[in-house]
Amino acid sequence: MAASTIKRIAFVGTGIMGAPIAGHILDAGYQLTVYNRTREKAEGLLERGAAWADSPAKAAEQADVVFTMVGLPGDVEDVYLGPDGILEAAPKGAYLIDLTTSSPQLARELHDAAEVMDKHAFDCPVTGGEEGALAGTLTLIVGAQEQQVAPLLDLLKTFSSKIFYFDNPGAGQAAKLCNQVSLASCMVGWADALALARQSGIDEQKMLDMVSGGMGGSTALERLAPRAVVGDYRPGFLVEHLRKDLALALVEAENLELTLPGAETGYMLYDTLFQVGGSRMGTQALALLYEDEASATAAGLDWSVLEGNDDGQGCGCGGGCGCGGHHDHEDGHECGCGHHHE
Ligand code: NAP
Repeated sequence: MAASTIKRIAFVGTGIMGAPIAGHILDAGYQLTVYNRTREKAEGLLERGAAWADSPAKAAEQADVVFTMVGLPGDVEDVYLGPDGILEAAPKGAYLIDLTTSSPQLARELHDAAEVMDKHAFDCPVTGGEEGALAGTLTLIVGAQEQQVAPLLDLLKTFSSKIFYFDNPGAGQAAKLCNQVSLASCMVGWADALALARQSGIDEQKMLDMVSGGMGGSTALERLAPRAVVGDYRPGFLVEHLRKDLALALVEAENLELTLPGAETGYMLYDTLFQVGGSRMGTQALALLYEDEASATAAGLDWSVLEGNDDGQGCGCGGGCGCGGHHDHEDGHECGCGHHHE
């Protein structure tokens, strides 16, 4: 398909990231059809001229390119392979691009399934956060070669400013998980520093300003720690999604017989936050784990849900540890959720 013939775009998943990305595609003049599980979250796009479809399949059936930006690997499976899935419904020759942070193995499976149907599926997770999505300056992490993506370049540039090609199906997701592993330790780093400053009676914001100019700084510290200082725990980037990313990274590490102590610590903390009611908070809510119970409760957490959860089995992952079910919870191995299932 030549770049000039790419006109009709479908977009599935218009949440925090998907809605602004789809908005940039619309602003660039493409014909846009959208589907989201909760229709209200697409209303802004519909008011600006996007068409609504009643299912992922209906959105995809006329599309040259279908983007997906859903939450978890299980959502990706539903949207691609479910009864109303886009894989079957999209026309031959269509591009199916998954922007979700998801499982590398699932990305390889979708790529291979699409190829035999004469369709082009590739993984393209993003970094840059909600700010990058709003500004149209995301970094794209592509599991395909540059020449395979060339016809889509104008379209991709409507919401990105940097593209990294990792050449092979699933490799975009694997590279994104490296980013999340590094991010997890940055988050734990500034949350530790904030707790130490608070306990030492040091001005917290002044400490952050000082650290951000030196080797202890990070984008995570600059953007997210100040929100925690003022008690703003709205998402941005959801706790349940970083927990999912770290579970995926730990499954990859386990397959490679590798230990990732930073990611394990990050997973353990984000899993705790998830279980005590923080799943839909922004990732900066990590700082709440260092607060006394009364302050955490005032912010919306409920520590009582962990009471009686000490039998080594009731880790709360319920088999839904977020990694997409690409491992077995029944056989007693470590599922990546940070607890050992006997
Ligand atoms: P979000 O606000 O929860 O958006 C996900 C959207 O997908 C929601 O609107 C959800 O519908 C929809 N969805 C889920 N399953 C669906 C299905 N089966 N059919 C149709 N729609 C479905 O999350 P987000 O922050 O945009 O994140 C999306 C993905 O990007 C995640 O994988 C996340 O890890 C990744 N990511 C996020 C950021 C960030 O800073 N936020 C940055 C980089 C990457 P409902 O409206 O019904 O919930």
